[in-house]
Amino acid sequence: MPELPEVETIIRSLRPALTGRIILSADLRWARSLAAPSAALFEERIAGQRIEAITRRAKFLDLQLSRDHLLIHLRMSGDLLAVLGGYAPARHDRLILALSDDARLVFSDPRKFGRVWLVEDPASLFRDLGPEPLSEEFTSAWLFKALHARHRQLKPLLLDQSFIAGLGNIYTDEALHLAKLHPLRLSDSVTCRQAERLCEAIRSVLEEGIRRNGASIDWVYRGGDFQNHFRVYGRTGQPCPVCGTGIERITVGQRGTHFCPHCQRV
Ligand SMILES: [Zn+2]
Repeated sequence: MPELPEVETIIRSLRPALTGRIILSADLRWARSLAAPSAALFEERIAGQRIEAITRRAKFLDLQLSRDHLLIHLRMSGDLLAVLGGYAPARHDRLILALSDDARLVFSDPRKFGRVWLVEDPASLFRDLGPEPLSEEFTSAWLFKALHARHRQLKPLLLDQSFIAGLGNIYTDEALHLAKLHPLRLSDSVTCRQAERLCEAIRSVLEEGIRRNGASIDWVYRGGDFQNHFRVYGRTGQPCPVCGTGIERITVGQRGTHFCPHCQRV
């Protein structure tokens, strides 16, 4: 499942190919990929709009058009491709936008969980999202206060998009290992110094993920290689890069969770 660094990587690849192009028409090939508005209104409304900018909020891609925002959430298996020149639709394509100068934006999604919205104002979709971990509002002081305002285990709390936006299973496990915090540790038992370490660790693993163009695992290959540099994720039984102890795997809230029992004590 794409997390923040993978979505950021997709945005950076789409930006130069799509910015400034006009959307000529929409070919919606799987109706349920469109969350809002109706298919007829979507096709009528999107035609003629120019792609002004492409940004990200949490794991949403936000294409800012002349009048509206085209928001896309990739969920489990979604992917976006900018295609120049001729194109024959593929089996898993759910939406194809024809663009000026013979370009196309293709939303492909084998498992069909991804969603697309065309809205005037994206605020209502973003309302329940926590802060961006790479923004200035995400500080160790904020994190310490927020951890102590709750009484929850760290792993599920960090996965909660209303607490902090953009983290998924991979980067949460990596950040907790880097911060030397056990995934089951209770949030309000974290010390000020540990909150500082966790804040730095979250930023650091996300920045490394972006620098390596994301991780090519469990989803469409895009050339990212962060999966070759994982500290704990998917490395059950292999040595911890810090102390050599075997990495353990437990299930927390139905999610496979990887940690070092020596470096990350409860
Ligand atoms: Zn260790």
